Amino acid sequence: VPANTYIASILAITDNCLVPVLVEPDIDTYNINISKIEAAITSKTKAIMIVHLYGRVVFSEELKALAQKHDLKIIEDNAQAIGAEWNGIKTGNLGDAAGFSFYPGKNLGALGDGGAVTTNDDTLAKTIRALANYGSEEKYVNKYQGLNSRLDEIQAAVLDVKLQYLNEENEKRREVMKYYLENIINPDIILPQLPENEKEHVWHLFVIRTIERNRLQEYLKDNGIQTLIHYPIPPYRQEAYPELHHLYFPITEQIHEEVLSLPISPVMTNEDIKKVVDTLNNYK
Ligand SMILES: *Cc1c(COP(=O)(O)O)cnc(C)c1O
Repeated sequence: VPANTYIASILAITDNCLVPVLVEPDIDTYNINISKIEAAITSKTKAIMIVHLYGRVVFSEELKALAQKHDLKIIEDNAQAIGAEWNGIKTGNLGDAAGFSFYPGKNLGALGDGGAVTTNDDTLAKTIRALANYGSEEKYVNKYQGLNSRLDEIQAAVLDVKLQYLNEENEKRREVMKYYLENIINPDIILPQLPENEKEHVWHLFVIRTIERNRLQEYLKDNGIQTLIHYPIPPYRQEAYPELHHLYFPITEQIHEEVLSLPISPVMTNEDIKKVVDTLNNYK
C-alpha cells in the first residue's frame, strides 16, 4: 500500500487483522511507485493495495505481471477515482476487488455516507453482501460474524440519479484542470503532471506543490480562497499506529510537507477559476 495514502486505506487493512507494508510513491504522480513494490513482497504478502490517489489511475502490465508472479490479489482503493479509465477499463475493474466511497465530497457523493465494493468474483460478491448484512445470506440465518454496512435506500436513490451525471461532471473537472495548467505561471508552484491518456485522471483533487506551502495557504486564505492539505500527516506518523513510527519515507515526507489542493469542482464558475489563477500568479 502506498505510504502517502489516506488513513482509511490503512484502516481497512488493519481492520482485517492484516499488516500494512508501506511503499514509497512516485513524486510525479503521487501514486505508489510500482517499481518499488517487489522489494516489499515477502512470503506473508497477500495482496497489493493500489490507491488511485487524487483521482489518478495507477496501473500497468508490469503491476499485473508482478501480482501474477507472486500469486497476489490486487485490491483497488477507488474512493477518489470513480469514472477513471485505464486502457478502456474503468477503475474498480482493474484488480480483484475494489472499494468505492460515496462520501459527499467524492466525485460521486451521496447526501451522507455510503460506499460500494466491486468484484468479478461471484463467490466473493456473495460473501461481501452477506458480511455487510450481519453475515447473513438468508434472513435470521448467520453464516459469518458480519456487520451492518448496507447502503441506505435514500442514498442509493440519490446516487442512482447522480451517477448519470458523473462523466459530465468529471469532464467539467478536466476543464478546470486545463485552465489551471495553461494559466498558472508562477515558478514557485509545481503543477501536477498529466497522464498520457486524459481518461486516466478524474481530478478528484488538483494538487500542487510548493516549498513554503503553509505561507501560500495563508496567502490564499487572506485572498478568500480555501485550500486543503491532502494530507498533513503520513499514516505511519499517526498516533493510531505506534507500530509504524519507526518508518521513514523521504518522498512521502516531501509530499506531506509541500502539497496543497486548489479548489476544483464541477460547479466552479469561470470567475472562480480565474480568481484562483490570478491570485496564484500574483503570489511572491
Ligand atoms: C474517502 C476515502 C476512503 C474512505 O471512504 P469512506 O467512504 O469515508 O469510508 C478511503 N480511501 C481513500 C483514498 C479515500 O479518499
